Amino acid sequence: MPAPLTHIETSPDLPAAADAVVIGGGIIGSFTAYYLAKRGMKVALLEKGRIGAEQSSRNWGWCRQQNRDARELPMATKSLDLWERFGAETGENTGFRRCGLLNLSDSEQELATWARWRDFARTVGVTTHMLSAAEASERGRVTRRPWRGGVFSPTDGIADPTHAAPAVARALLKLGGTVHQGCAARGIEAAGGKLSGVVTEKGTIRTQRAILAGGAWASSFCRQLGVRFPQATVRQTVLSVASNTKALPDVLYTAGVAFTRRGDGGHTLAISGRGRVDPTPQLLRFSTQFLPMFLRRWRSLAPGGMGGVRSGHEGLSRWRLDRPTPMERMRILDPAVDETTVQLTYARVVKLIPELEGCAITAAWSGYVDSTPDGVPGIGEIPGIPGFVLAAGFSGHGFGIGPGAGHLIADIVSGAVPIVDPRPYHPSRFADSAWGKVADF
Ligand SMILES: Cc1cc2nc3c(=O)[nH]c(=O)nc-3n(C[C@H](O)[C@H](O)[C@H](O)COP(=O)(O)OP(=O)(O)OC[C@H]3O[C@@H](n4cnc5c(N)ncnc54)[C@H](O)[C@@H]3O)c2cc1C
Repeated sequence: MPAPLTHIETSPDLPAAADAVVIGGGIIGSFTAYYLAKRGMKVALLEKGRIGAEQSSRNWGWCRQQNRDARELPMATKSLDLWERFGAETGENTGFRRCGLLNLSDSEQELATWARWRDFARTVGVTTHMLSAAEASERGRVTRRPWRGGVFSPTDGIADPTHAAPAVARALLKLGGTVHQGCAARGIEAAGGKLSGVVTEKGTIRTQRAILAGGAWASSFCRQLGVRFPQATVRQTVLSVASNTKALPDVLYTAGVAFTRRGDGGHTLAISGRGRVDPTPQLLRFSTQFLPMFLRRWRSLAPGGMGGVRSGHEGLSRWRLDRPTPMERMRILDPAVDETTVQLTYARVVKLIPELEGCAITAAWSGYVDSTPDGVPGIGEIPGIPGFVLAAGFSGHGFGIGPGAGHLIADIVSGAVPIVDPRPYHPSRFADSAWGKVADF
């Protein structure tokens, strides 16, 4: 089942030429295209299905600095400001607000990890408050039980995945950019050692700059160009309930279950980290590089099924530019819901918050979370293909850092001073080390 998603219009004609072409209309591609258009560039945004229909509408909506890896924290901090600024400068509603994030725990180990992160965050000017048992129990009073401790990050927030990517794409249209849904990019053309065009199922756009923000499809696209981009996906299941009660906090994380208030007044429920790994040819190809990541997270992962092979995003086949590609056969990755997870999540939330007993499940959906071996995205121009910039592998954090990532990518493409240091993100690190440092948090 797809997650709820607002619809936006498609531009009538594919342009013959553009200053930049963005491949993939998730939150990353949409923000990238928006920031490029703001600099006066003529931008075309290509989306094989619908804007935001894959990961970017299926996530929880958290925009957090809390517990971010040191490499990603500067981008997370900038993103929170950019979410706010985007709403103010465009009048578009992404549902963003700094409601603060509340984490509660009974585990000394978990609390010690959060305290270590708090100490590190202080050194870079990010404020987060460790909560005593009394404070945690008070903030978590809706659970009607005592807690050993917790953490509250007051400057973090949430945006609404149903509206965010379409809102950004709409802002792009207002700036004169074009949005092409149902239009897959099949590949790129090069002339004189430089990128010269993007080939789509509806024709070729002449351009010297292309950004691949293709989410879970990025590695197989790169493979067509002879570029090795190690990427793996985990299938996670989420559900929404009609919970119209003001007594619940907007956001609450516990190890058992987490919930987030939705724009429609209900809540999104999920179990953090829990997912299934669907075996695919691509997973086998990159398995050694992903071992450290999977070893660290194995307790919450279970083997999946053949859905990953059937959907085609992790195939190893080579495709031709004059024939339909796997992306045209799978317009929207809509993986199977894990029913066991739906039941378990619901049971856990009702146990945690008895007030939710009997609330109706309004929807359930799954999404493939695309990840790199070290849990930090790959962003940067690909050596050997001047003009071709990769921006994928957002490893379960891409929604919240979407504005900062889009801004950084636009900086790289337009040669502006980068909003954050781009070096920790460059994809060349995947070639340097097979055993990258897995993100700490
Ligand atoms: C269950 C779940 C919970 C999550 N929770 C959070 C959270 O709370 N906070 C957070 O920050 N992140 C979260 N994430 C992660 C976050 O959703 C992703 O990191 C982010 O949405 C990635 O954005 P993207 O634009 O890179 O990818 P996507 O949203 O997947 O978009 C990529 C798009 O590219 C298109 N595409 C691919 N190839 C082509 C092509 N060749 N031509 C045209 N179009 C193409 C696809 O159709 C797709 O729409 C969660 C993810 C899931 C699944």
